[in-house]
Amino acid sequence: MLAVGMARGKPGVHAFELPMPEIKQPDEVLVRVKEVGLDGTDFNMLRYGLQDIAEGRNEMVMGHEMVGVVEATGSGVKSLSPGDSVTMTVRRGCGQCQPCLHNQSDMCMTGLYTERGIHKLDGFLTRFSVEQEQYIVKVPPQLVKFAVLTEPLSIVEKGIEQIRIIQSRLPWACAHPEHTFLSENWGMCKRALVVGAGPLGLLATALLRLAEVNTYVTDIVPEDSPKVHLAKHMAANYIDASSKTPKELVELSCALGNLDIIFEASGAAATAVALINCMVRSSIYVMTGIPRGDLVIQVDAAQLVRQMVRFNQVLVGSVNSNRSHFEMALRDMGKIDSRFNGMLKEMFTHRFRLEDYKQAFALSDPKHIKTVIEVEPWN
Ligand SMILES: [Zn+2]
Ligand SMILES: [Zn+2]
Repeated sequence: MLAVGMARGKPGVHAFELPMPEIKQPDEVLVRVKEVGLDGTDFNMLRYGLQDIAEGRNEMVMGHEMVGVVEATGSGVKSLSPGDSVTMTVRRGCGQCQPCLHNQSDMCMTGLYTERGIHKLDGFLTRFSVEQEQYIVKVPPQLVKFAVLTEPLSIVEKGIEQIRIIQSRLPWACAHPEHTFLSENWGMCKRALVVGAGPLGLLATALLRLAEVNTYVTDIVPEDSPKVHLAKHMAANYIDASSKTPKELVELSCALGNLDIIFEASGAAATAVALINCMVRSSIYVMTGIPRGDLVIQVDAAQLVRQMVRFNQVLVGSVNSNRSHFEMALRDMGKIDSRFNGMLKEMFTHRFRLEDYKQAFALSDPKHIKTVIEVEPWN
């Protein structure tokens, strides 16, 4: 069967043939891949030549955002049946540390995990895939058309979960006991800045707006960009940072008023560090974007440490997600769709067939938000 990914020692993206995978264990499931989403990780792996192919293999299938349909199940599979729409988590635990042994491989303590389509394991840019039942999450029928966004939304769910758990230290963030960070109405009386209006930034904005957080989004795209249109559609405010230095952006952001939350989803390292200056007393800053390459900047270290200590500030990194975040994502996806009618569909700006993978990876379009590879069309 056709597969698309990286080939050892050869830069760029390539097509190759793989044998049809087979169910070999009772808990395994054969899934027919329908759609695969591409994201910054995929493009960066190629751009920076980050090949992480398993030993003994010459290729690795790329693609870690997927939706598919169960084709067949092993004899021990209980929760899934042929015909079910499904998506799969990305990381497979190290099998050694306590978080991994307890379904929390996103917090792996050894770093010996693997990841489908990223780190040693084949991804989903192919026709069929076999996986253990525990890593497969059932998609409600009404969400199949958006479910390729489950993985990126799960990343954002984890980031916001971190905010809510950590900030539960602060039950009196406002005067209303019903607005505490672990309550249903946690977002009321809160203000957030989302950095980056790519898929993760937009999905973060969707979750924050769903919770009624007063949300600002910043990016370097012009006001008439589809990204800005989507942010405004969710009643978020846009800050065009294109002609601003990080210092000017900081001044502008600080002028918005108390930023309880900063959600970094751009991976623009200099801006990400500069925006620490916008944190106020007891605020929290979550970083999810991963910068590539090196960037050395000057920072006033004394001011930074002084501020973080004196203002009880929290700076937290958040990577990957586990099954619980996929389930949260699927619960919220329906709410996002009904609340911001049409928003998720509008994120799919480009579609390609699997055979046209080269065009998909070479795409350069300022209107681009999310590329979906249609491995097999929905009927
Ligand atoms: Zn581990
Ligand atoms: Zn309140």
